[in-house]
Amino acid sequence: MHNNLVTDLLDLPDLVATELIQTEKYLTFIVDYKTDHVKCPICGKKADNIHDRRPQSIQDVPFRDKKVVIKIVKKRYSCKHCGKRAIPKNLKSIPGYSRKTERFKFYLLKQTDGRDYSRVARENDLSYTSIKNSVNTQIDTMIEKAQLETLDKVEAISIDEFAIKKKHKYAVALTDPINGKLIEVLSSRKKKDLIEYFNTWPEELREQIKYFSMDMWSPYKAVAETVFPNAKIVVDKFHLVTAINNALDKLRKEEQDKQTAANRKKFYKSRLTLLMAGEDLDDDGHQRLIEIFKLSPALEKAWELKEEFRDLLQIPDVKESIQALNHWYENVSQSKLSLFYRAKGTVKRWEQHIINYFKTRITNGFAEGLNNKIKLIKRIGYGVPKVENLKRRVYLSLLSI
Ligand SMILES: [Zn+2]
Repeated sequence: MHNNLVTDLLDLPDLVATELIQTEKYLTFIVDYKTDHVKCPICGKKADNIHDRRPQSIQDVPFRDKKVVIKIVKKRYSCKHCGKRAIPKNLKSIPGYSRKTERFKFYLLKQTDGRDYSRVARENDLSYTSIKNSVNTQIDTMIEKAQLETLDKVEAISIDEFAIKKKHKYAVALTDPINGKLIEVLSSRKKKDLIEYFNTWPEELREQIKYFSMDMWSPYKAVAETVFPNAKIVVDKFHLVTAINNALDKLRKEEQDKQTAANRKKFYKSRLTLLMAGEDLDDDGHQRLIEIFKLSPALEKAWELKEEFRDLLQIPDVKESIQALNHWYENVSQSKLSLFYRAKGTVKRWEQHIINYFKTRITNGFAEGLNNKIKLIKRIGYGVPKVENLKRRVYLSLLSI
């Protein structure tokens, strides 16, 4: 093949191919620098005396099922004008001491998306560690860039936790609910650790935060009050509904225990139907509920309170929302359901922050969506439950590469 064609095939801007060797498994390019000199970093003149040479083999993106190896003699130069010695030549396509081209690293990154590292390692004749280091370094660089962009604009933070190992350990996702961006994944939800983390943020950034969206867990509130002097605390709508649903589910269990064996089954089978959004029920669902409500009027009352609460969260007007909330309090009082008294107590304690939701409509919706991604990622593996690996994978699924 003509050298120009070989160079074109290689398509690396700062290199020229002098030879191509083909075997069954490999394409080996023998290459040289396009220009055989550097600009002296001391005097700025042309340095073209060879100081030393080091032959290197660099792996590149496979071509038609063959592995591609680039053989290059890396040179360092010395400057005859000022005497500076051992000046390296910086290549865009193969930086520093890397044994992989930039595009091969990117290729590996894409190969590991949704797949096991060890399989990608096998396919490319590389070690697991080599893949891991290459991929992680790239992702970390991308994360850093994305984080800086996100933090530049962030005004609201939502905090949400998810289980890493079943029920034992929790990690925390910090997101920007307004712009729908992931900020950070942290390995602890403890107050002390969160404060320590947020204190690494510059003061101006902490002052920039106007809203902090969270579930009704007091340590989070304490964190926000400590580190975000200008932030209003907003209770997340989804967690509010969960709190009410929990009361409803507890009542269902209590009522279920009072039933005959045959009817207990009906209650148990309706457990998810009860928690479903009323407007999403199909005819079967309605029928199931009608049957158990005949057996337990208390459960019917509780279900209605749940639906009323969900409805009031949808009212667009702030004043009307507050009126509806007060109306709900009254209905709870009249219901004589102690489980709902307790739920009402919780809502009352957080009322100011619920009203902040009426005013801002900020929710943890974006974080809830992330949670599904996280579940999928945990299923694939990737050395998760290590939180840093989980974070890399979550970010990767968000950044389009
Ligand atoms: Zn010089």
